[in-house]
Amino acid sequence: MPIEPPELHRQTLAAQGMGRVALPYRDVVPPIHVSTTYERAADGAFPGGRTYSRADNPSYDQAEALVASLEGAASALLFSSGQSAAGAVFQALAPGDGVLAPRYMYWALRKWLLEYAAPWGLAVDFYDNASVDDLAAKTRSRQPRLIWIETPANPTWEITDIAAAAAIAREVGALVAVDSTAATPLITRPLELGAHIVMHSATKYLNGHSDVIAGVLATASDDKLWQRIRYVRASGGAVLGPMEAWLLLRGMRTLHLRVGAACANAQAIAQHFHGHPKLLDVLYPGLKTHPGHAIAARQMHGAFGGMMSLRLKVGEDAAKSFAAKLRVFKRATSLGSVESLAEHRASVEGPGTLCPPDLVRLSIGVEHVDDLIADIEQALA
Ligand SMILES: *Cc1c(COP(=O)(O)O)cnc(C)c1O
Repeated sequence: MPIEPPELHRQTLAAQGMGRVALPYRDVVPPIHVSTTYERAADGAFPGGRTYSRADNPSYDQAEALVASLEGAASALLFSSGQSAAGAVFQALAPGDGVLAPRYMYWALRKWLLEYAAPWGLAVDFYDNASVDDLAAKTRSRQPRLIWIETPANPTWEITDIAAAAAIAREVGALVAVDSTAATPLITRPLELGAHIVMHSATKYLNGHSDVIAGVLATASDDKLWQRIRYVRASGGAVLGPMEAWLLLRGMRTLHLRVGAACANAQAIAQHFHGHPKLLDVLYPGLKTHPGHAIAARQMHGAFGGMMSLRLKVGEDAAKSFAAKLRVFKRATSLGSVESLAEHRASVEGPGTLCPPDLVRLSIGVEHVDDLIADIEQALA
């Protein structure tokens, strides 16, 4: 096993995809390992250290090592999607365990918690994302096994104080897991703030090109829970294809450049449209008027992410027609890619949505900021 030089910056590790070369040809870009199975020696052992690709695949090694380095984690595991990565954390719990999740969170995961995890036996309850007091009160009364955090939270971009939540969790011995998809490992490092597990939809910023569905978990310690999560992946079979793992590693090589450009564009766009006469609000943690700005400034390093939402004064129809008039922004679900995307979230989420109907979510890409601003201006006009 090559030794990772610890003195290198994370940007360098990412740019070089961990900097390993593959033998025997000394490839600077790793090969894709497609084999599903691995040969045993005469004594029945596996000298290659691999058995079957549902348990593990050599194409995961560099991507997992890189995510672990970026997050300061003991170990990382790739999954077939962000949903299967998140699901593995909950499936590793036992029926009867309590879970506290935020009121605003990735909609499909909220739905899965209510429609699958709760009937399966987890006691699921929700707290106010932006209120440490609410989280503390519910933690003391419910004694949950796990507190799930998403910050900034989709699609209203509320901020939860991870360090404060971790301190509350310690009082009752609860675990803390953070969906850090919107923050990226460059901006927030949840494990340093006391979280046990960090999750990313790698479909988003980590891959960054809207051409891979993938998820990843990283852990502060390779403990019993982590072994169980590993078992959930290997036995449940939510494994990533080798080609997707390779594309993910390739995407992560430019993570710093892409995230840096998207954050700079987002900050400029939020400032430009803050106070616009057609807008009720610009929801972006980088604005000083955002209720979570002070916490965000503490736990997000140097930038506030590339995600924001606009709320239109005239309401739902205005929001829908604004989204329809955008030309540079593509009208599509998903986020965190190099191209800018816009979506009327309430209609995507459907009945039971908590998303305000006047809200359009924007995923800011790396295009020229003037083109993005002009596009929003013409669609608002
Ligand atoms: C997209 C997303 C997910 C789910 O990830 P998939 O890769 O689509 O399964 C979870 N959380 C957040 C915040 C997301 O944006």
